[in-house]
Amino acid sequence: MTTPLTLNQLNSATLDEASALLDGLYEHSPWIARAALAKRPFQSLAQLKFAMVQEVTHGGREPQLALLRAHPELAGKAMVDQSLTAESTNEQSKAGLTHCTPAEFEKIQQLNAQYNARFGFPFILAVRGPRGTGLSKSEIIATLERRVQGHPDFELAECLRNVHRIAEIRLNDKFGYTPVQGHQVWDWQEALAQHTDAAYAGTGQLTVTYLTDAHLACARQIHADMLAADCDSATIDAVGNVVGRYESDSYPRTSDERQGPISSKTLLTGSHYDTVRNGGKYDGRLGIYVPLACVQALKAQGKRLPYALEVVAFAEEEGQRYKATFLGSGALTGDFDTAWLDQVDADGISMRDAMANAGLDVNAIGSIRRNPADYQGFVEVHIEQGPVLNALDIPLGVVTSINASVRYVGEIVGMASHAGTTPMGQRRDAAAAVAELILLVEHCATQDGDSVGTVGQLQVPNGSINVIPGRCQFSLDLRAPSDAQRDALEAKVLTGLRLICERRGLQHSLTRTMQASAAPSAPEWQQRWEAAVTALGVPLHRMPSGAGHDAMKLHTILPQAMLFVRGLNSGISHNPLESTTSDDMQLAVDAFSYLLDQLAAQA
Ligand SMILES: [Zn+2]
Repeated sequence: MTTPLTLNQLNSATLDEASALLDGLYEHSPWIARAALAKRPFQSLAQLKFAMVQEVTHGGREPQLALLRAHPELAGKAMVDQSLTAESTNEQSKAGLTHCTPAEFEKIQQLNAQYNARFGFPFILAVRGPRGTGLSKSEIIATLERRVQGHPDFELAECLRNVHRIAEIRLNDKFGYTPVQGHQVWDWQEALAQHTDAAYAGTGQLTVTYLTDAHLACARQIHADMLAADCDSATIDAVGNVVGRYESDSYPRTSDERQGPISSKTLLTGSHYDTVRNGGKYDGRLGIYVPLACVQALKAQGKRLPYALEVVAFAEEEGQRYKATFLGSGALTGDFDTAWLDQVDADGISMRDAMANAGLDVNAIGSIRRNPADYQGFVEVHIEQGPVLNALDIPLGVVTSINASVRYVGEIVGMASHAGTTPMGQRRDAAAAVAELILLVEHCATQDGDSVGTVGQLQVPNGSINVIPGRCQFSLDLRAPSDAQRDALEAKVLTGLRLICERRGLQHSLTRTMQASAAPSAPEWQQRWEAAVTALGVPLHRMPSGAGHDAMKLHTILPQAMLFVRGLNSGISHNPLESTTSDDMQLAVDAFSYLLDQLAAQA
């Protein structure tokens, strides 16, 4: 066992010495670390990792391909011949690849050959995985089977991301660095993901909808986790939110110790623990466990903050079982609509009955509304649920605003007529008009900064192969970082639609089904996240949130700001492939701790 490296040692070594110290991070490609060393001194491993990533990104396509081709095939010839680098041998054996059955070995060989033939470089996967402890052989084979179908550009990028992940783990090993809290947060979420709704049990799919048995089991588990993480108290409230508190330094531990009023207002944080159907393990839950890891560390250090920290695991955000969404955070802001209690689920069970069955007291819902005067603000950590950070190779993102949105369903009516006999100039094609609308939406949103626009549904009722579409129904979803920007985009698209229909001689109808205001981050809270990210040596990336979050609800009563954590697999979410690494989770914990300390210093 060699002594772990330190940043000090690396920063003060000569270039040759430092290059030697970083030898073996990138397979047969020492030029990457060597070039990155020009950016010394490094304040953190995160900064060093990103410096190396940038060398590869800016190196161009040929060096990138050479880097990929310098990698051995997984469970390939080099493994059999025992000619792998020491690092590769370690990784492949951790994943059990050195002990493949002949059938597994043949399957991997075959897929490897297919992959290499298709893309011109070997399939590369960081087989120690997002937790660093090794993927299973079945996970590796499933990933190979999926990725051999990928788009060539995507596969090039995905292999490079895996190369960086391999380097990250090797670098951690060299420095004797373990993301202990990241692993803890990972393990908590893994344990929580064992609870899934009855209909999904045994399928390996994660589904936890409001007040099912699995949902109640999650609440109990989070309650226990909060106490195990040394919260002073944990309670389940009237809508099923689980609330953990870590009291301030003026916390009256016994009546004798009472020291007067709490010295500063409480900081509120948290996210949701319900999921969509067949969802991911981290959506929502990451924002519960990252702060809990901070509480645990504070308690371990015997440290209290001059303010209390309240971590809320919101019972419902996704609107899966009932039509109500943001039910958990809505109850805190006084937006719980009692009419929701009479909604019924697909089995005819009313929300009122479900709540009674869960032992919740509907009469107490009004009392859990928070008084903004008691709180300094709300912060939420959330997995990004998009591809942006993953594509930039940046682990954390600071949210500038949760986008405003507006949704419509619409129909265009033309004239159904014979596809063979109606000349092109005499058609009233409703679907062609929607096609034009789609391109218009794409064009307008692309021109409009961080706006996005989507026509996600389109159908020709009773359409036939030989009939010109007489009717076409569609949906429209527009989002922008501010209300004004959204309104302008909406006006442009609606005007455009009117002109398309006029020109084509068509009728159209539109119904607005939803409108939500933007929730811009409070500048001082956004700056706290920015300071935290910067202090970690992570490049600062500001971004809007295209998806809605609990912070949107809390925005109505408190200043708020969110921190995003990079997702793997192109940031896919609401999907079992949703993932991030325990290293990135650790950075989120570090950023959160930094934010807590900043607030303490300002109190
Ligand atoms: Zn979420």
